[in-house]
Amino acid sequence: MQIIISVIAISFAFSLVFAGLGGMLSYPKEFLVFTALSLVTVGSGFILHEMGHKLVAMYYGATAAFRMWTNGLLFMLLTSAFGVLIAAPGAVYIYSKTITRRQNGIISVVGPMVNLALVGFFMGLAALTPVVIHLSFIPGALNVWAFGAKLNLILALFNMIPVFPLDGSKVFGWSKAVWVACTFLMLWLSMGMLGPGMLVSWIILLVMVFVFSKLAFG
Ligand SMILES: [Zn+2]
Repeated sequence: MQIIISVIAISFAFSLVFAGLGGMLSYPKEFLVFTALSLVTVGSGFILHEMGHKLVAMYYGATAAFRMWTNGLLFMLLTSAFGVLIAAPGAVYIYSKTITRRQNGIISVVGPMVNLALVGFFMGLAALTPVVIHLSFIPGALNVWAFGAKLNLILALFNMIPVFPLDGSKVFGWSKAVWVACTFLMLWLSMGMLGPGMLVSWIILLVMVFVFSKLAFG
């Protein structure tokens, strides 16, 4: 139930950032269509990412459950009305006395890897059965599956930032070689799919998350 609420909220917030408050109020039907498409592309990326963590944690004998952060969720909805997506809807909590640093690293790397697999899946869909729509609040045509692929790549890259509490910090703490291999592969893909600006954005985001993490967690 908590992950369902979170995934609906994140899809709604995401759509609101793209459409803007004006877009949502002026074109409510198109906004609904876009939110449904967000559920399929971003929502699936979010749920399967979290499920990946949960299943691998359970494989290692841990108890794992997704917990929603009500304040983070409300904050996300509030900021999305102003065009900023701060996606902090919750996380998978793992309970175990015997999880090693290596196991924790593997549990963590699975999430971004699921998003990377979805990049391939959506790219395949874009090539096989392209769906192109026009929405009043988005300039030009929207290639839905290619959009889904790009969003999952951004999700993967964001989570690989090696700063606590993001997945990347646990992967980095376990194996720098694995972290470098995964992150470089994602950055290389993003150069082709999103342009060189993505590398700059990622580095800026890394610095911002680092400062935030130092302030929040010390
Ligand atoms: Zn994760």
